[in-house]
Amino acid sequence: MLEDLFDRRHVLAAGAGLAAAGALPGQAPAQTGGTNAAALPPRGDYVIRGAQVLTLEHNLGDFPRGEVRIRNGEIASVGIRVNDSGAEVIDAAGMICMPGFVDTHWHLWTSVLRPVMRLDDPDYGYFPVTNRLGIHYQPSDSYRAVRLGLVQALAAGVTTVHNWAHNVRSPAHADAELAAMRDTGVRGRFSYGTPQGAANDQPMDLADLARLARDWNSAEGLLTLGMCSRNVGDDPNPLRGSVSVEMAKKEWGAVRELGLPITLHTSGPSPIGLLDAAGLLGPDVQLVHPLLTTAEERAILRERGTKYSTSPIGEATRPAAAGVIQLGELLESGVKVSMSIDHTTTANCDCFACMRMLYALHQHRIGRRIPLTTRRLVELATIDGAHDLGLDRRIGSLAPGNRADLILIRTGDVNLSPVGDPYDALVSLAEPGNVDTVMVDGRILRRHGRFTALDHSGVLAHARETVDDLRARANWPT
Ligand SMILES: [Zn+2]
Repeated sequence: MLEDLFDRRHVLAAGAGLAAAGALPGQAPAQTGGTNAAALPPRGDYVIRGAQVLTLEHNLGDFPRGEVRIRNGEIASVGIRVNDSGAEVIDAAGMICMPGFVDTHWHLWTSVLRPVMRLDDPDYGYFPVTNRLGIHYQPSDSYRAVRLGLVQALAAGVTTVHNWAHNVRSPAHADAELAAMRDTGVRGRFSYGTPQGAANDQPMDLADLARLARDWNSAEGLLTLGMCSRNVGDDPNPLRGSVSVEMAKKEWGAVRELGLPITLHTSGPSPIGLLDAAGLLGPDVQLVHPLLTTAEERAILRERGTKYSTSPIGEATRPAAAGVIQLGELLESGVKVSMSIDHTTTANCDCFACMRMLYALHQHRIGRRIPLTTRRLVELATIDGAHDLGLDRRIGSLAPGNRADLILIRTGDVNLSPVGDPYDALVSLAEPGNVDTVMVDGRILRRHGRFTALDHSGVLAHARETVDDLRARANWPT
């Protein structure tokens, strides 16, 4: 029942959105992947005025005091002065205007599990909790958890999220996660995975992935589809899920026939040699957690065009390689790297802190031997993430013709003022609370630090309800 998935107000709004999106009459959002677009603010015609504009575009450079014109979701022009005829002016004096952050790996479905997880108790760590409660997820839990994570992302200035969905328990669960992505107005990729508790020799639901690919609803170009693979090769952690090379060949082959990209954790023993010997690496593969690669493996990755995503907050605490995030080595080797949040159960969504962590660990271990600037870190968190997701000609920089995904950051706040070099300020001083305005595809989703349309308190209430239900269903000790 649809009412089980969404509250009544949502259903009514979703119906209106479906009409606008041209969905077939009589089909419900959960079946079509229809969007709640009616509840999202319209794409306007804006001029952002008076901001310090960081375009992250080498040909354009930055503007200490510049303007950005946005029309119908697109960046129309950027400069010291732009044509403002007919546009609504957004006064951004005292703010930094920059591309929104691009996350490249995030297990959004876990977001509601915060009250159950513990950072300092392994029995209540990420893997035991996600395994024990993940099997009890209903589609409505997936919807509410993904929505909670995305609301947090937007509040922190993250405009693109790669939803690493490794608990797709049924087609309805996939549809629910996608509905949550569409309803929040975020840009992103949905990477389809196997459910928690699946046996390692049980194939993933390739038929359902093919269904999604065939009937794909991109929410007006905002969403793309991919596949998240289980670890490949023997993994000593039985809770992570791993498949043989033969199974990987079969699954990856089917995914590639659909033209979809693949993502894979390298949390256990390095699979790079194994994958390369099997002919599986390529530019359509993203690896996650660059902790233990050898120089030889990095050369292979550069050769194959395979990318890496680093999630610094979690990686810094990994017992196997704590603090050895190989950002410097990868950049030196010519391997493309991007930045990710991973999850927000025992870590916050804070791209500023992620950049700070990467800088600190790099300085601690490598220092000036491989120079790393604060501007380079901001690139990592924006344009390099867009490249990882195949979106670098659409987002990640403020270039005319790009889609308008951007954020305004208040530099008058006490932790930033008086502001100096903007890149240094972003990496060493800023925090999510400084994000004033968030625009995705020309829609202003947040203004003055508040959501413009989304029912924020409703999202939080539903998240609490969901985790309480999950605990009850699992007979979780209180
Ligand atoms: Zn992960």
